[in-house]
Amino acid sequence: MNTDDCIFCQIAKKERDAVVIYEDEFTMAFADLFPLMQGHALVIPKRHFTNIYELDEEYAAHLFKTTAKVAKVIKRVLKPDGINIHQTNEKAAGQEVFHLHIHIIPRYLGQRLFVMNIERKRAERSDLIQTFYPVIESLK
Ligand SMILES: [Zn+2]
Repeated sequence: MNTDDCIFCQIAKKERDAVVIYEDEFTMAFADLFPLMQGHALVIPKRHFTNIYELDEEYAAHLFKTTAKVAKVIKRVLKPDGINIHQTNEKAAGQEVFHLHIHIIPRYLGQRLFVMNIERKRAERSDLIQTFYPVIESLK
């Protein structure tokens, strides 16, 4: 994809308007134009990464540092009862803008937002090991 057409690259380069909450050399936080809750913010790396698979360690560190910084101030100032940090990769996961971004979503008791329809059952340890063994090996 040509990053000139990327709306988050345009916001990062100040070519498109946004309510910027915070920015530094590597990251920017701005108000989500379609907030799920009052105070819903997005954090992006200023460099274009389509998703977390492309993200390098330097930007990963900056991105989470900014996310924590902004979330703490939203908690202190807007006083939500809780905060979700939400991030999606690829269409199957619900990604709609293909420039990596992290959602900071204030939550309020009694206001339902994410509803899990799937019944969760306790997993067997052997099944967990079977699933994760190749992942663990690949992380070594
Ligand atoms: Zn972009």
